Amino acid sequence: MKLNATTDDILSADNHLIQSFCDLDALKQNTARTVINRAEGAFVYDSDGNELIDGIAGLWCVNVGHGRQELIDAVTQQLGQLDYYSTFYNFTHPSAAHLAQKIADLAPASLNHVYFANSGSAANDSAIRILHHYNERRGKPDKKRVLSRHGAYHGSTYLAMAMTTPAFSQTWSSASDLVHHLRSPHHWREGGGMTEAEFLDALMEDLEQSIAHLGADNIAAFIAEPIMGAGGVIVAPKGYHVRSAEICRANDIKYISDEVVTAFGRLGHFFASQEMFGVEPDIITSAKGLTSGYQPLSATIISDEIYEVISAPGEKFLHGFTYSGHPAASAVALANIEVMEREKLPEQVRTTGKQFESTLRDLGELDIVGEVRGSHFMMGIELVKDKATKVSFDDDVEIGGKVAEAAQKRGLIARPLGNSLILSPTLVMQPDLIEKTGDILRESITAVAKTVG
Ligand code: PLP
Repeated sequence: MKLNATTDDILSADNHLIQSFCDLDALKQNTARTVINRAEGAFVYDSDGNELIDGIAGLWCVNVGHGRQELIDAVTQQLGQLDYYSTFYNFTHPSAAHLAQKIADLAPASLNHVYFANSGSAANDSAIRILHHYNERRGKPDKKRVLSRHGAYHGSTYLAMAMTTPAFSQTWSSASDLVHHLRSPHHWREGGGMTEAEFLDALMEDLEQSIAHLGADNIAAFIAEPIMGAGGVIVAPKGYHVRSAEICRANDIKYISDEVVTAFGRLGHFFASQEMFGVEPDIITSAKGLTSGYQPLSATIISDEIYEVISAPGEKFLHGFTYSGHPAASAVALANIEVMEREKLPEQVRTTGKQFESTLRDLGELDIVGEVRGSHFMMGIELVKDKATKVSFDDDVEIGGKVAEAAQKRGLIARPLGNSLILSPTLVMQPDLIEKTGDILRESITAVAKTVG
């Protein structure tokens, strides 16, 4: 292990690493990469020793905060007892079994069966594969297409990227024939002068017309994040999820709630679909906060009804990943949930997350802040050139990147996404740090605003 290598050593080695969602050419040309090599609580430390508030919890995932000894011990103890065994065929092991039971307890009442994989993308792919198999078994082999939304992010495997908004794939191809994208539910940008209630009606009309056009017999699923994350933290109009679920149910279309970001406390609940949005989905997918990112693990949680069909006598369940339910990942997820329950972290977030939300909402008064949106510890700030007309900065201004850079210089990591900034910190942020985060953002936005005129 080279935990104490110099920054130069690391950057030289890094020339062999292909980063994700990045400009490879720019990375090749410059050395302005941030090396994170240590983390503790709500902070990370770069290789020059700078302390940074982790305003994005790694990548929306380190919910219980960094460096929790209990989680580290869970991994080492598990590896000491059983390093690896698969959950293929008739094999199982204690950690995966207990974790599945625990998730079934926490999830909405009818969701009692859990399929493990290693990423949110694989959880979403698994949901679709399972539904295709389910429909084959029900004698409905054509029922395969998926309704997703413009603005959605569901992952980066071939199928998950097809379900993601086309804006993310650009020149990359995907399995797009399977997917139909509905209108984005972003009222502020897409509402076109309608009230929120009128916009909601228009969105439901789009859903119904799309179903009529494609044919309900050809559609397996509707997939939606309770709050869109990587699309810029978009909160749909009130009632959107309930009405979408009703339309899906009436058309025998399964409702998949992608809770890869929203589950495990970020919005103040273990799962947000039912508690916050009043929907009991047919499938919930989850990852990230499930292990707080300490190990890669995802869960596809399916209803009793789907499970009964796929487990009836007949064709086998032909789906599996070597690391499904990996012992170390399952053990750390159990320890992570234990910490969350003992510390009542989701309940705490209902207070601290609300403080975070209102601190960020105050930034709405700044000249170049067009919209502050989101909920609890999942927030987005859209920066605009002209507040009154909502006209955006040109892409080459890279406004989000500039503010993120200014924030990092002041000790905060925020994530730029086009013209927006994303904030999704660890859930252990307390009021003083929340205030400091707000101050850094205010200073950074104000400073950058002066330079872009
Ligand atoms: N779904 C949502 C809502 C996500 O935000 C992400 C990742 O950010 C994914 C799925 C994909 O997860 P992963 O990167 O673990 O494949």
